[in-house]
Amino acid sequence: MYSCCEIDLLATLLEIAITMNDNWEYIEQQLSQALDTDIHFSSIQPVSGGCINQAWKVSTNDNQHWFVKSNQKALLNMFEAEFYGLLEIQKANAICVPTPIHVGVVAQHCYLIMEYINMTGLRQPCLAGEQLANMHQYQADQFGWFMDNTIGSTHQGNQQNSNWVEFWRHERLHYQLDLALHKGLDHQIYDNGFKLSEQLDVFFSDYQPKPALLHGDLWSGNIAYNENSQPVVFDPATYYGDHEADLAMTELFGSFGQYFYDCYHEHFPIDTGYSIRKTLYNLYHILNHYNLFGGGYMLQAKSMIAQLLSEVGYF
Ligand code: ADP
Repeated sequence: MYSCCEIDLLATLLEIAITMNDNWEYIEQQLSQALDTDIHFSSIQPVSGGCINQAWKVSTNDNQHWFVKSNQKALLNMFEAEFYGLLEIQKANAICVPTPIHVGVVAQHCYLIMEYINMTGLRQPCLAGEQLANMHQYQADQFGWFMDNTIGSTHQGNQQNSNWVEFWRHERLHYQLDLALHKGLDHQIYDNGFKLSEQLDVFFSDYQPKPALLHGDLWSGNIAYNENSQPVVFDPATYYGDHEADLAMTELFGSFGQYFYDCYHEHFPIDTGYSIRKTLYNLYHILNHYNLFGGGYMLQAKSMIAQLLSEVGYF
């Protein structure tokens, strides 16, 4: 859930909204080339809801629509990773995602064009649970992914590793802890976080996760239902990891509801140790929220680390 806008971020997005006006003709040309047909936008409407990027619904007179995101051109890698992440989820053929069409740079901006989805359907949490369980059955040989991506706008390393605990320690926990220290995280919390990272094996003594295809940023703002009431997930931070990491995030800011978890569990049984590991997985996102937004997330991270350390016999 990366929607807590800061003033600086809002100013940047406003600047993008204004300066993008000069770029639509170029984007129209690129889309025409990608689809091998002549496209002329008849309307360009801002879409709210995200905060990392500026977004628009672009339409033609004959009712074709696309969704376009834009940001400063230095963030091109972020859109490239989203492009390939959407394709990766499509490969699993388990749950709908918008089809990515083109990613590029124009003037000072990067942009990503994808299929526009009319997110007006009825909620079907049971179907979402079943389809996400199916997506998680799509697995790889190693944890990680072939490319790095971002979580919110923070770099997310995906260096492939056959050992999940090592992957989580280095690519997730250590990375966010180090970043947090630079952002002013209390030294004691940092040290305890490191202590925790050395004890991770305890959480996996009788549980060996498989490298499952993950959405990576699965909060309630990144799932919706299309016109046919089919679940759609979008804005992923894709990689292969423990399916519990995705499940944990569904519970971080509210919950997807009991129907969702019951149906999920029918198709991909949830191990009993999940109730403890979910705090470990959500600690990553809370540290990232501290790194992005500061404030009270430091205390939340502190209490999560203390809770996890008490599970392994400290405190
Ligand atoms: P950000 O990267 O800034 O977080 P999102 O990808 O979450 O932006 O998109 C912002 C909002 O736009 C979402 O909350 C959703 O309502 C809407 N949205 C996202 N993708 C699409 C799409 N492909 N078609 C239509 N609307 C979309």
